Formats: sequence, structure tokens, C-alpha cells
Amino acid sequence: MKIPFVDLKAQYQTLKTEIDSAIANVIADTAFIGGSSNKYVTKFEKEFAEFLNIKHVISCANGTDSIEILLEAHGIKSGDEVIVPALTWISTSEAVGRVGAKPVFVDVCSDTLLMDLQKIGEKITSRTKAIIPVHLYGNAVDMETVMQIAEKYNLVVIEDCAQAHEASFNGKMVGSYGHSSSFSFYPGKNLGAYGDAGCITTNNDQVAAKCKMIANHGQLEKHNHVIEGRNSRMDGIHAAILSVKLKYLHNWNVMRNEHANYLNEGLDKKKFILPVVNKNAKHVFHLYVIRNRSRDQLKKYLYDQGIETAIHYPTALPFLQAYEKLGHTTKDFPIAFSVTQQIISLPMFPELTKEQLDHMITVLNKFEN
Ligand SMILES: *Cc1c(COP(=O)(O)O)cnc(C)c1O
Repeated sequence: MKIPFVDLKAQYQTLKTEIDSAIANVIADTAFIGGSSNKYVTKFEKEFAEFLNIKHVISCANGTDSIEILLEAHGIKSGDEVIVPALTWISTSEAVGRVGAKPVFVDVCSDTLLMDLQKIGEKITSRTKAIIPVHLYGNAVDMETVMQIAEKYNLVVIEDCAQAHEASFNGKMVGSYGHSSSFSFYPGKNLGAYGDAGCITTNNDQVAAKCKMIANHGQLEKHNHVIEGRNSRMDGIHAAILSVKLKYLHNWNVMRNEHANYLNEGLDKKKFILPVVNKNAKHVFHLYVIRNRSRDQLKKYLYDQGIETAIHYPTALPFLQAYEKLGHTTKDFPIAFSVTQQIISLPMFPELTKEQLDHMITVLNKFEN
């Protein structure tokens, strides 16, 4: 039995008629490029805003752009510092560098692998302007504590929700806590387009207007360029696909949770450290990440048995060549350093069958090491 890491084909098969007709409509209307006159884009923005119960959704070209646009809209610039977790996808810190500011990394918790909020205080300086909590793997960060810290030090909070569509903390959805938030609709995300796409969410009218302007060449309306902006728009085809898929997101997340619970029950807890759901969080299991001391052997063993896996992420951000200039050593982020030697992401997608899950459990529990 072969088990892929994700199976976007299986999802497409179940939605083929709806998706094909959504794409055909966009082509028939030649509504290709995003903007306020694209009815597919504005429709999806409205639907996603209702889903999250938030005032503004501003679509853009991808999740990385959405963070960068938000930092600019909040006035973060050269000389500023922005707090980010040591373990996340590089977009989070890359966007900080792109606006000329400095990413300041914080180590992660040894159980949830989310940013350790207790270690933020010691990283705050007079230059600290913002904090970007990341709901890593679909597990929600304690946003109430983050907002308290932000208030105390007068910081802007930008949530990175790229892996956490519909995750919530204390019953409130992520993407609606911070001053603003970023989402990615990369194809493999819980809600994914058929190419790159992303969006910004906020309840703040000024931030929304600024982001909209930045993402569309600094225009307020056509040919009225108020500032130098950029081209970061969501294509009509992606918006139409996302409108179809949004209706299924909740059920998909329920299935992801069922699969995660099934694996939690079946996997040998003496052999593997299983995922820990943050207290008061609703996890959406974008990724199902376990830990084992012999991770590299485990990965090879699973590959030989036809089970595809991945590592999110093999190197914590401070130790990448891109951040060599910051001069960090592994002692600065001991948890992030040690867990990156142990973590492995197992196949996780809504369409996983019971046979596939049982096979994963049997094969994994036979691993000797
Ligand atoms: C995927 C991802 C992003 C960025 O998404 P793109 O749409 O690929 O630019 C940002 N942050 C995290 C944590 C992600 O996983």
C-alpha cells in the first residue's frame, strides 16, 4: 500500500464538477486578475470574512506577501525589531527582513512546539515594534496572552494563520484576535487554491485600506497612485476555487481531527512523542507531527514501506545560512534545535482511509529503535 503525504487529486475527484464549472465561469467572464471589480475575488473575500467573523478580508497573491504587506501597512521599517518563533516556515521572518526590519527569534515550547510566550519578555527592546505568533501545524497559540504582552509593550500583533484556517483559541477563531492576520491558500494548506494565493484579515479600517492600496500598485482607484505599491493580487480562478472549497473546510477539519485522534489511539506512545494540542485550543491538524530519537532511520523505513513523510522543519530559522549574520548558536534556541532532529510529519489529509490509517499504525509500531 502506498500512502502519499498529501493527496490533492483525491480531493479534486470529489469536487470535480463544481470546480470545473467554477473555473469555466471565470474564463467565460475573462475575470482573470484580482481587484475590486473582480466579482469572484470580492465574493470570496466576503465569504471568508463571514466565516471568520471579521470586518475586512483583503486578498493578495500569496501568504508571504500578506505578511510583508501587513508589516508595511503597520509602518514597520528599517531599525525596527519584530518577534517571531524560531520554528516556522521562513515566510514569517523573511517578510520582516524584506521591509528592512530585524527578526528576533524566540524559542518554542517543548510540548506544543509553538512559540514560548514566557520567553518573549526577555527579547523586548526599545526597537521592538511587532510580534508575529504562528499557529504552527494548525495548533492555536494562546492569543489572549499574546494580546496582553502586546498591550504591555505597545506592540502590533500580526497572526500568521497560514496553517490554521478555522483553528480557534477559547472558542474564538485565529485570524480575528490580532491587530491583523495573514492567511496562505497555497494548494496544500487546509484551504488551498490551485496555485499561489493569500489574504489579509483585520477589523481595522485604516490598515485594510492601506493593505488594499499596497497590494494594487498604491492605487485608491484606477490611475490614482497615492503611494508606490506593488502587484500582489489574487487571480479570479483561485478565488472561484476557494469559494467552492470554503463550504467544505469545516468538514475537512473535522476529518483531520478524527484521523489525528485515530493515530493518537493507535500509535505506540513508548516509541513516539505524539502531537500535543495547546490548552484551550482547537487544532486543525494541517500537519500531524510526531517525534522519535531515530527520526532519519524512521523516515527511511517509512519510505521503504511506501509511506511518504516530510519534515517541518529540518532546520530552525536562526540556524539557516540566511540568518548567519545574526550569529546565533544552538544554545540560543535549545528546544528548537533539539526538536528539529526528532520531528517527522506523517501523511495527513481529509481523504485518508481507515485502511491507510491502520496501515500507518501497523508499520510505525513495528519500527525498532
Ligand atoms: C505556507 C506558509 C506561509 C506562506 O505561504 P505562501 O502562500 O506559500 O507564501 C507563511 N507562514 C507559514 C507558517 C506557512 O506555513
